[in-house]
Amino acid sequence: MDANTPNAATPKTLVEAIRFFSEPDNCLNYLIPIRWPNGITCPHCGSKEYAFIASRRIWRCKSKACGKQFSIKTGTVMEDSPLGLDKWFTAIWLVANAKNGISSWEVHRALGITQKSAWFLLHRIRLAMQHGTFGKLSGEVEVDETFIGGKARNMHADKRAEKIHGRGGVGKAIVLGILERGGKVKTTVIPNTKKATIQPIVRDTVESGASISTDSLKSYEGLTPDYVHEAVDHAAHEYVRDNVHTNGLENYWSLLKRCIKGTYISVEPFHLFRYLDEEAFRFNERKHADGEVKTDGERFTDMAEGISGKRLTYKKLTGQPDAGPTILP
Ligand SMILES: [Zn+2]
Repeated sequence: MDANTPNAATPKTLVEAIRFFSEPDNCLNYLIPIRWPNGITCPHCGSKEYAFIASRRIWRCKSKACGKQFSIKTGTVMEDSPLGLDKWFTAIWLVANAKNGISSWEVHRALGITQKSAWFLLHRIRLAMQHGTFGKLSGEVEVDETFIGGKARNMHADKRAEKIHGRGGVGKAIVLGILERGGKVKTTVIPNTKKATIQPIVRDTVESGASISTDSLKSYEGLTPDYVHEAVDHAAHEYVRDNVHTNGLENYWSLLKRCIKGTYISVEPFHLFRYLDEEAFRFNERKHADGEVKTDGERFTDMAEGISGKRLTYKKLTGQPDAGPTILP
C-alpha cells in the first residue's frame, strides 16, 4: 500500500489515530502491507513459510534451518522497543505533522512515557524519515551553506568572515542545502566549505544541465560546463539578479532555525543531521507530485513506510560501540 491508496479505515485526525491504533489488531493490519508489500517474510532468513501465533501476535518461521520467531517490529526501527505500537504510531503522527517539530518533553507528556524513552523514540522516528530516496534534483536549483549553533546574531557577518578567512565559525556546524525551486530540498552536515567537499555532493544530487544559483563562494567555481551556474555576490549586497538568487534556501534556513531554536532548544552537533532530516522530510512530503497538499494521514503513512528495515539501537544512537540490542527502561 502506498500513500496514495485510499483506505477507509485509515485515520484522518490525531484523535482518530489514537482511537484506531489503541486496538493492537488495527496496528498490525495497518502495518503488515506497508512492512511486507509482497507478503509476510521472515526477517531472519527471508522464508515465506510461517505460522502465526495469534495470542502473542507473532510469527514463527517454518524454515527448518531457521525456525525463529519474529514480530512486526523485528528488523525495523521499533525492534527491541518495549513501547507498544499504539505509542509508536501516536508519536509518528505527532512528528509527521508538527510543523515546527516536537520535543522529547512534549512526547513524554503526551504519551506518558519517560523523557529518555521519548528522546530515543523520536530519534528512531527521525531515522525512518531518512528514506528520502528521491531522484536527482533538476530545473532551477539553489545551493547554499549555513551555520547552525553558536551565536544566533550576526549570522551574516560571521558568514562573510568565514568566506574571507576560510574558517568555520567557532562552535558552529556547517550545513549544505540544495533546493529545487518548487520541488524538494536536501541538506547535509559538511566538515568545511572547501570545493572538494561541496562539489561532489552537488554533483551527486543535481542532474547535469540544471541551472544552479549560488552565492559567490569560490568553492562553487567550476560547476560550469556541467551546469548552468550563476552566482550573486552577497558581500557586495547583491541578492537577486534576474532569476539568480538563493531566496528559496534562505527561507528554508529560517524555517529550520526556528524549528531547532524554538522546539529543540539545543541540538548536539552529533545529532544535528537527524533534525535536518526531519525538517527536510516535512518539507519534501508536503505535497503530492501533482502539487496538491498532503493530508496529515497521508504524511503519516509516508513515514510509516520508512520504518521498515531500519534499526537504531540506543548505543549506536549515543555513539557507543554497538553491543547488540538494548532494552530501555
Ligand atoms: Zn526464518
